[in-house]
Amino acid sequence: MRAIQITQTGGAEVLVLRELPTPTPGPGEALIQIEACGVNFIDIYLREGRYPSTLPFIPGQEAAGTVAAIGPGVNTVKVGDRVAWCGAPGTYAQFAVAPVARLIAIPIGVTTQQAAAAMLQGMTAHYLAYSTYPIQMGDAVLIHAGAGGVGLLLIQMAKSLGARVFATVSTEEKAVLAHAAGAQETILYTREDFAARVREFTNGAGVPVVYDSVGKTTFDGSLTCLRPRGILVLYGGSSGAVPPFDLIQLSARGSLFITRPTLKDYTATREELVIRAGDVLRWVAEGSLKLRLEHSYPLAEAAQAHRDLESRKTTGKILLIP
Ligand code: NDP
Repeated sequence: MRAIQITQTGGAEVLVLRELPTPTPGPGEALIQIEACGVNFIDIYLREGRYPSTLPFIPGQEAAGTVAAIGPGVNTVKVGDRVAWCGAPGTYAQFAVAPVARLIAIPIGVTTQQAAAAMLQGMTAHYLAYSTYPIQMGDAVLIHAGAGGVGLLLIQMAKSLGARVFATVSTEEKAVLAHAAGAQETILYTREDFAARVREFTNGAGVPVVYDSVGKTTFDGSLTCLRPRGILVLYGGSSGAVPPFDLIQLSARGSLFITRPTLKDYTATREELVIRAGDVLRWVAEGSLKLRLEHSYPLAEAAQAHRDLESRKTTGKILLIP
């Protein structure tokens, strides 16, 4: 099969297309012929070596396609089923094996490409809005990188829960997208002091929650946006890792909370995975959750997809088509 393989960590050039053996599903696993594979920011952290992994490896951890073979003891899926999954590695390829416990049947009304696009970023937005800080009607919330993959979905979910959404973006074009997704106010955080703007929007009160996936460049300002006892949900570091931090600042700035959540812990059981994926895919089928699918690349152009994502050129979802 054709697959992207990383033999050494580094820049986008380490994403090399190779001919590799098609894997064989073991007990509890299925082999899936991939029709679309999601590109996520975590793929960059793993490619760079910022998150450790064992070399060589096939990157990617989100895809959708058709079951091509099943391993011993598997009876929950069969050959020909349309499935999607995330959180199992090796998806930048024509085929991948995945544990059947992580597979989700793609409902009627959802295309395979939509399913591949919705799983990881959609369930992330879901747990952030519904579980990490369950958004209440009337809450003012700040969402960074509002035109990104997670950002556009999180804005829509926050809005549907009745929040007043403020979103940061780097360009006017991205501001238009964040507004269209439901943000009441957008802030060009590359030019404006976003914390001062949030204070203005809330008459000095601050917000109960900031969803921050940017990290290094936004962390301090995000704390400044919070009202007393507010929570900073730091769920990524697209600008770099947050440097060591003195916890005494949390008390000095108003008995604040910080959490650093990850999707794995919010889909740890089959039950929770099915609830989150079920909600997300149902909303996509109904049309109440809109996916932005403007960036599809052939598998061989995975390096270009990474370059575009890390240079902030993309909006919404990026897909690789094997
Ligand atoms: P995005 O599509 O949101 O792309 C990242 C965005 O970050 C860019 O478009 C850019 O938006 C913004 N950004 C700000 N500073 C930089 C910088 N220096 N370099 C690059 N980008 C920058 O990616 P994803 O939707 O895939 O992921 C968003 C974030 O969510 C990532 O940090 C990812 O790690 C995290 N994540 C965390 C999960 C979890 O469970 N913890 C799960 C899924 C994603 P702009 O140009 O508007 O500034």
